[in-house]
Amino acid sequence: MKKALVITYGCRQNLSDSEKIKGVLQNMNYEFCENPEDADLILFNTCAVRAGAEDRVYGNIGALKKLKLQNPGLIIAVCGCMTSQRRVAAKIKKSFPHVNLIFGTNSVHLLPQMLNNAENTHIFHEREDDDVYENIPSLRENKIVANLPIMFGCNNFCSYCVVPYVRGRERSRKTEDIINEARILAARGYKELQLLGQNVNSYSGDLNFPQLLSKLAKINGIERIRFISSHPKDFSPELISVMADNKKICKQLHLPFQSGSDRILKKMNRTYTRAHYVGLIESVRRAIPDIAISSDVIVGFPNEEQSDFEDTLSLINKLRLDMLFTFIYSKREGTPAAKMEPILSMEQTKSNFLRLTQAQAKISAEINGKLVGTVQDVLAEGYSKNNKDVYCGRTDGGKIVNFTSHENINFGDVLPIKIQNATAWALGGCYAERY
Ligand code: SAM
Ligand code: SF4
Repeated sequence: MKKALVITYGCRQNLSDSEKIKGVLQNMNYEFCENPEDADLILFNTCAVRAGAEDRVYGNIGALKKLKLQNPGLIIAVCGCMTSQRRVAAKIKKSFPHVNLIFGTNSVHLLPQMLNNAENTHIFHEREDDDVYENIPSLRENKIVANLPIMFGCNNFCSYCVVPYVRGRERSRKTEDIINEARILAARGYKELQLLGQNVNSYSGDLNFPQLLSKLAKINGIERIRFISSHPKDFSPELISVMADNKKICKQLHLPFQSGSDRILKKMNRTYTRAHYVGLIESVRRAIPDIAISSDVIVGFPNEEQSDFEDTLSLINKLRLDMLFTFIYSKREGTPAAKMEPILSMEQTKSNFLRLTQAQAKISAEINGKLVGTVQDVLAEGYSKNNKDVYCGRTDGGKIVNFTSHENINFGDVLPIKIQNATAWALGGCYAERY
């Protein structure tokens, strides 16, 4: 049997694409390995959202040159968001002649045919279409929580973001196809669905997003449903009421605001204001008081002045969200923001970034600290990454819980866990039946 090593960078959508890549490879009788020296195929599924991820890919592809010389039959493939950009694909082809196969984000269904032709040749699959391909097998490593893409691409063109250029126009899967896949997942024992899309609120199949959620929640065996990401401009009162009324829809919301300054939001083309975002959070909290909310923020957007950053900091202090994913702006060639001039120095941006992350760490630790002493329903997913004597799961609000138990537990069960300690990033506890 041939062996493949699939290396994934970036977001959950990319992880889901890699699950399909592995599904296709498994059908071609590949088995999987961790060590590059053991592999007949090494495939990089890349991310283009920030320069750091791209630089890591270039470094790692370069490092394989020696291995390819020792093992000329080794197939090296690079796919995903980086190679969906013609400019980047051409650069990889030119600078790394030991790469055999280059393709974008929407050609996984063509993998068998591309691989059959790839040995000792160069295939540069330039044509990417915007079609939705069904029935691609997925090899999901997690057996409890399933990634379930409901739509692909993005139409929002936030001025800093490369995603609409690399993943194409927004297109939704048919409701029927999503429901059928969810039923199959439930029959296989999956307990939680993680619905994926760049902007799930604008899902438009036969149903809209809140209707799709209600329908998925009726599937027997599925106990929890989460979704990422939402865009504030499409977040509807209908969605809030479906979330509030349905126990299976987790009390968790990831709603990126990106900046607390109206001037910057406008330059980012986010099409909402700070006041609109604050109003949304207030309505969500009124309807679902115990909801856990997280967000994304960019620090150092070109044109950002110190007062804009202070607006962002004041917003996080006002809203006190559970968690924040904070990014330093990364210039992406071809986006409108790439033509804007930075005002703040990188030194100032880094210092702002630190202030923001420190402020949020304090807020997250305080919010999580309030859970100490409570008993939370935790879906047991597996063992803790660092300690196989400790189990790991998530609360309804999506907080990671590492816990111990003297009794045997079944992965996939929702267990009462007494929370004993908390940090900004995770909770610790033990099975509550002992008390
Ligand atoms: N569609 C999702 C949304 O709008 O919420 C986000 C997708 S993007 C992969 C995830 C996050 O990366 C964004 O919310 C944004 O904060 C960040 N991001 C995107 N482009 C960036 C850039 N050029 N520099 C820094 N961060 C960026
Ligand atoms: Fe990028 Fe904006 Fe689309 Fe999210 S909504 S993927 S940030 S363009």
